[in-house]
Amino acid sequence: MSMARILIVEDNPMNMELATDLLQDAGYAVRQAHSAEEGIRLAEQESPDLILMDIRLPGMDGHAAVGALRSNARTREIATVALTAQAMHGDEQRALDAGFDAYITKPIDTRTFVATVARLLAERGRRA
Ligand code: MN
Repeated sequence: MSMARILIVEDNPMNMELATDLLQDAGYAVRQAHSAEEGIRLAEQESPDLILMDIRLPGMDGHAAVGALRSNARTREIATVALTAQAMHGDEQRALDAGFDAYITKPIDTRTFVATVARLLAERGRRA
């Protein structure tokens, strides 16, 4: 069985590098998008198993992006996880309200990040 494919949508270079390194080291195939628009295009083209989506992005933000993914038949079933800033109180509930399946708070916890992604993938697998 091949490892899951994960699309990361994140405009902060340090967060992108950290998330990418952790997931690649764990064996996942990672694709990167630096804007919501690019992320939506890659999601349509490649149907990743899971999308990690920053909320604050240049242009379209993560809330609008998850709405677009949910309204598109080609992307609506993809597990989509918000990357929310821990300091921004209320971001987590707003992310769920906007249509995300789950959220992971930033700064990324290097001790738990990969296990959390693996659990979310497994939960999606059971639902499918
Ligand atoms: Mn951002």
